[in-house]
Amino acid sequence: LFRGLEELRDKPCVTTDGVRVSLLVNTGLMTDVVRSLSHGAEGIGLYRTEVPFMINERFPSEQEQREYYREQLEAFAPSDVTMRTLDIGGDKALTYFPISEENPFLGWRGIRVTLDHPEIFLVQVRAMLKASEGLNNLRIMLPMISNVSEVEESLHLIYRVYHEVREEGYDIHMPKVGVMIEIPAAVYQVRELSNRVDFLSVGSNDLTQYLLAVDRNNPRVASLYHSFHPAVLQALVKVVDDAHAVGTPVSICGELAGDPGGAVLLMAMGYDALSMNAANLPKVKSVIRSIDSLWARKLLDDVLDLDSPHVIRSCVDLALRDAG
Ligand code: PEP
Ligand code: MG
Repeated sequence: LFRGLEELRDKPCVTTDGVRVSLLVNTGLMTDVVRSLSHGAEGIGLYRTEVPFMINERFPSEQEQREYYREQLEAFAPSDVTMRTLDIGGDKALTYFPISEENPFLGWRGIRVTLDHPEIFLVQVRAMLKASEGLNNLRIMLPMISNVSEVEESLHLIYRVYHEVREEGYDIHMPKVGVMIEIPAAVYQVRELSNRVDFLSVGSNDLTQYLLAVDRNNPRVASLYHSFHPAVLQALVKVVDDAHAVGTPVSICGELAGDPGGAVLLMAMGYDALSMNAANLPKVKSVIRSIDSLWARKLLDDVLDLDSPHVIRSCVDLALRDAG
């Protein structure tokens, strides 16, 4: 079976009736990159920059960051590499930058931290831009956006660094900038956000957690954490419809994209790209290559009429099993 999946590596991810969807990977360490290339990923949809920060004992310097980023960009050039600015707080802690709060998931996290500490953001963006010299495949993505003003402030800082780095003589291009849709408020601001950025990417892990008010890491409520919940599916449909209505590309980079049933529904919704852990990529590609897009659309319409996450899950699993 594994050999069969390996043979898929160079084949396109396309349904039997010719609908194409890009398969990207989520990375953190270089080991993820190596595995991703061998599994045929078309680019990096989410590089979690906090991972190299978490394995360090202090903030990595601009030069160290530049080396981490260059490795990721070079490995995938000329394909796009989407680098997310630091997403610490919540469940992601840095020993050398402790954050202690009663409700960390509702607290100082992601863009909130880095806009309060622009020196962290500026060094990171500077390192990304310098790392992209001569490659032109960098995209920058902002995590935990709940207000348009956070995007404006971030863009202002990114432009500033871009001009400074160019003036220093680096041959760089202005990267595309995008935001994560992972806070319910952002679902209702897709048009406003799209006016300001080049792309959107749904973080279904956090979006599920925040829509359902279920801590994604708390085993006591794990049975309530369900990305096939009808409210989550409706939100996912709304995001892609609103984004495409104004011509903004939208991908998804939460775990749901790496679940074959989830991937089929997301493709049917119209997501342009699915980004997942490399280990899931061959499975997802194999399923998408075996189905017809109209069949997937019908399955999506059927499950959108259901009201139980468990029934939706079984319905999708059964349909995929019947489809072989
Ligand atoms: C998400 O929230 O779905 C996501 C991709 O980001 P993370 O899992 O790193 O929070
Ligand atoms: Mg997230």
